[in-house]
Amino acid sequence: IKKIGVLTSGGDSPGMNAAIRAVVRAALSKGIEVYGVRDGYLGLHQDRIEKLERHSVSDVINRGGTFLGSARFPAFKEESVRREAIENLKKHGIDALVVIGGDGSYMGAKKLTEMGYPCIGLPGTIDNDIAGTSFTIGFDTALNVVMEAIDRLRDTSTSHKRISIVEVMGRHCGDLAMHAAVAGGAEFVVVPEKGFNKADLIAQIDNGIAKGKRHAMVTICEHVTDVNALAKEIEAHTGLETRATILGHIQRGGSPTARDRILASRMGAYAVELLMEGHGGRCVGIMKNQLVHHDIIDCIENMKRPFDEEMFKLSDTLF
Ligand code: ADP
Repeated sequence: IKKIGVLTSGGDSPGMNAAIRAVVRAALSKGIEVYGVRDGYLGLHQDRIEKLERHSVSDVINRGGTFLGSARFPAFKEESVRREAIENLKKHGIDALVVIGGDGSYMGAKKLTEMGYPCIGLPGTIDNDIAGTSFTIGFDTALNVVMEAIDRLRDTSTSHKRISIVEVMGRHCGDLAMHAAVAGGAEFVVVPEKGFNKADLIAQIDNGIAKGKRHAMVTICEHVTDVNALAKEIEAHTGLETRATILGHIQRGGSPTARDRILASRMGAYAVELLMEGHGGRCVGIMKNQLVHHDIIDCIENMKRPFDEEMFKLSDTLF
């Protein structure tokens, strides 16, 4: 292998830059050239591909987002569009592509692999919703952002005897909500994997008030329910002022934590190692603190993310 490409795609996450940097530096140290693709699959299709040097990734390890840019490009679902993208890669003599992104991006990488073009997927998303890995790049940073938000809301909620509802990202995965609830000491956590029962939640809040708690903090995953309407209902029921805070894209930004930088660095270097060993069509993960790799097609079609039952129970036990 002589030349590899790297792109970031889909929702950005803190640590993507560290991953790109690791791919570039690890490859260059082995005499492999690296080409950066701008704006994910969109730039791949538009042939916005440029050679990256060692200095191209200087001063990026501490920066959130992705300096290569990212995009949503639904047209990549069309085979003819992907074929043109592969032609662009071949034109530059690029032998393999490292794709850093979430499950949508993995789907694109899987399809390129199925068309005979080898890709390596690195899990870059704050949602922690990728199969085959315990953690994704960006999750830890987002988790710290949510925890800090909970800490701040707690101060003001306690002073005012207020109920706080914090809506966090995660799409269909409750990891961010559960981990943040445990780290922030939030009393109630609502995640899509467990379903949402409003009556249960209100009963639990009543129970907390009866125990003499000065405030209540509910951590809830996005898309579960309308949190502003929920706040109104809880307020009407309890008579306590209830506010919903939607953290939104704040969770996506900021300088990556040490944990995310290290994870991204390890995974980026590992992707290069795999390609040098002749592997293609793989996705990288971390399990029990060991780097692992799986067939990307198998990962998407058959592997499931296990629900972290222990974390869910813990938030309940510590209530
Ligand atoms: P994420 O990677 O964060 O999950 P998206 O779901 O938006 O973000 O996916 C990112 C991009 O991956 C899409 O804009 C599209 O270009 C590509 N993609 C997603 N699904 C597919 C698919 N089924 N086939 C080919 N490409 C896809």
